[in-house]
Amino acid sequence: MTLTTHAIAGAAIASLMPAHPYLAISAAFASHFLLDAIPHWDYSIRSDSINPDVAAAMKFDGALLADLLTIGADAILGLGLALLLLARPGHFALVVCGAGAAILPDALQFAYIRFPREPLVSLQHFHCWMHASRDLRKRPVLGLAAQMGLIFAFLLIARVLPHFDVL
Ligand SMILES: [Zn+2]
Repeated sequence: MTLTTHAIAGAAIASLMPAHPYLAISAAFASHFLLDAIPHWDYSIRSDSINPDVAAAMKFDGALLADLLTIGADAILGLGLALLLLARPGHFALVVCGAGAAILPDALQFAYIRFPREPLVSLQHFHCWMHASRDLRKRPVLGLAAQMGLIFAFLLIARVLPHFDVL
């Protein structure tokens, strides 16, 4: 799933629990694996150096640059939208941490490639185990629409749920 979707979902979840920041950030981190379990579309990783499935030696080439630009733009878009749509006075840091925690598992995949040691090995196995085996790679329009729907649902939950005083 894109980092934008993960970031907004994590920020939305964290924003629901301002009184419990550690629980909020843990829930945002856990949301990554649950969202990955849903069959989804994702952009391809071009560089074998940062593709966890290949884990090739580091090679600084055009593919790596293109990946860094794509992944960087995705992460910045997610953090930016999360702040724009979910940050409220006093909860700025919580929203940033929620978004960051939700995209952290994918960053830790890259760490695993370079440092394949515990606890990264177990986390990588869990990440792969949770990840949907079916994907929508061949159906990008449906895949993007589904992720936009998920983003909208999380934004709606973050806006509506606090009014019911259930948390
Ligand atoms: Zn992931």
